[in-house]
Amino acid sequence: SNHLSDRIKNMSTSATLAMAAKARELRSEGKDIIGLSLGEPDFNIPDFIKEAAKQAIDENYSSYTPVDGYAELKKSISGKFKRDNGLDYGLNQIVVSTGAKQSLFNVAMVVLNPGDEVILPAPYWVSYSDIVKLAEGVPVEVPTGIDTDFKMTPQQLEAAITPNTRMMWFSSPCNPSGSVYSKEELEGLAEVLKKHPDIYVVSDEIYEHINFAGGHVSIAGIEGMYDRTVTVNGVSKAFAMTGWRIGYIGAPEWIAKGCTKLQGQVTSGANSIAQRAVIAALDAPLSKIQFMIDEFHKRRDLVLDLLGEIEGFKLNVPEGAFYVFPDISSFFGKTLKGATINSAEDFALYLLEHANVATVTGEAFGNPNCIRISYAASEKELREAIARIKAVV
Ligand code: PLP
Repeated sequence: SNHLSDRIKNMSTSATLAMAAKARELRSEGKDIIGLSLGEPDFNIPDFIKEAAKQAIDENYSSYTPVDGYAELKKSISGKFKRDNGLDYGLNQIVVSTGAKQSLFNVAMVVLNPGDEVILPAPYWVSYSDIVKLAEGVPVEVPTGIDTDFKMTPQQLEAAITPNTRMMWFSSPCNPSGSVYSKEELEGLAEVLKKHPDIYVVSDEIYEHINFAGGHVSIAGIEGMYDRTVTVNGVSKAFAMTGWRIGYIGAPEWIAKGCTKLQGQVTSGANSIAQRAVIAALDAPLSKIQFMIDEFHKRRDLVLDLLGEIEGFKLNVPEGAFYVFPDISSFFGKTLKGATINSAEDFALYLLEHANVATVTGEAFGNPNCIRISYAASEKELREAIARIKAVV
């Protein structure tokens, strides 16, 4: 491993995947671990989507696909952007990829030159900073706290901008905080960006449908933002299709072209069967997935109620996604069952060892005072997990 490239040596391992691996290891030792570390819906894929995939196999959708995705799928994506977001993206502006993760990586590689700064309101999704670094960009974290519902203010954005700023990346609904930016809040950020026409925005909207406040707003729809925004989305979360690996972007044409060029040398077009299935998913009325959203909403309320009873957990009210991100810094400096808690990582490990509940440290998301708890788990598991946590803190 001495000969590993610096690129890989300097990269962090995905903390969410690392925690899941640790939980698996303890399970194999016979421990009864409740896993609340992964961002993965615990539902089955709706049957009509499975049927479309089976049909695609029978109809021999088995050859290489166009690098930027089937035209028919891009039409569905274009229709989805119009229907759900009021955005007009032509087929030349859409690129289908192997998960939104690849979409994000493509965009970083296509837009960033070495040393370009990327503003990341923290907490941010765990992979943003390593993806930016792989493209030789420089992540610039803007810390936010529970006092602003973990959202970046226009003043904070303004203060973070330097002559080297090239992009800003954010997710709304946010993984890990569940925060949702309102239209007014996005307009406030756009107002600042107006003064800096060379800064591009990545708007990661993969949780758009898992929104309990109603009214998802795309920043690309705010005046002046369309030509400088890459709207990233995918089917992993809304349709419980994490393993099928389909994500996509709507973007200015030059960015879409660059992503296609890159993908053409790295992966080629995304999986044929999965693409055919996603056409069915995106063309269906949203009422078909409402049951999942209703269920997440119920669990969100349950988890907030139960965690709210634990002293030392400071909570915002997440309006979307399926995570809570409690500030647990009041435990720092304390000793619990002989273990000294000095950081969110110590706390997450303590919960794993003593409550047998897997969560993720906020450090990985750029916030060292919090832990992330996923409520993509059954009500029974959530009740048991929180009871166990309560018992050991
Ligand atoms: N963006 C955010 C905010 C996510 O939480 C995730 C998955 O956890 C992704 C992107 C990646 O999604 P995909 O499964 O489409 O690669």
